[in-house]
Amino acid sequence: MTTSEPTINYSEVREILEAQRDEILAMSEEIIAKGSMGTDGTNFPDMSDQATAEQDQNFNIRLRGREQKLLVKIEEALERIASNSYGVCEECEETIALERLKARPVTTLCIACKTEQEEQEAMRP
Ligand SMILES: [Zn+2]
Repeated sequence: MTTSEPTINYSEVREILEAQRDEILAMSEEIIAKGSMGTDGTNFPDMSDQATAEQDQNFNIRLRGREQKLLVKIEEALERIASNSYGVCEECEETIALERLKARPVTTLCIACKTEQEEQEAMRP
């Protein structure tokens, strides 16, 4: 593949992604550990907190679903960095600003396209 595009060094963004991935993995391990331990008394000292505990459990499962999606996005972003296809807007194919990538490394849209997408979503009933 020949390209005249200058190669941008995404090592900093990759570090951010890897740190986020590690964080999610550590968090889900913690949630799984908590779930298998059940109510061990340390987290819920009062039995009347049982309902709250169950709510927490539901929240954790939801959180896991969301974190899981983010994890997939992080893996995809890391793959794009490895294959040199990272940092390009999938809508307009412009290079995404490095500052934006550092703030939101999993993004696949540039600011302009993201703003447009959000405006369209806001218009939906
Ligand atoms: Zn764009």
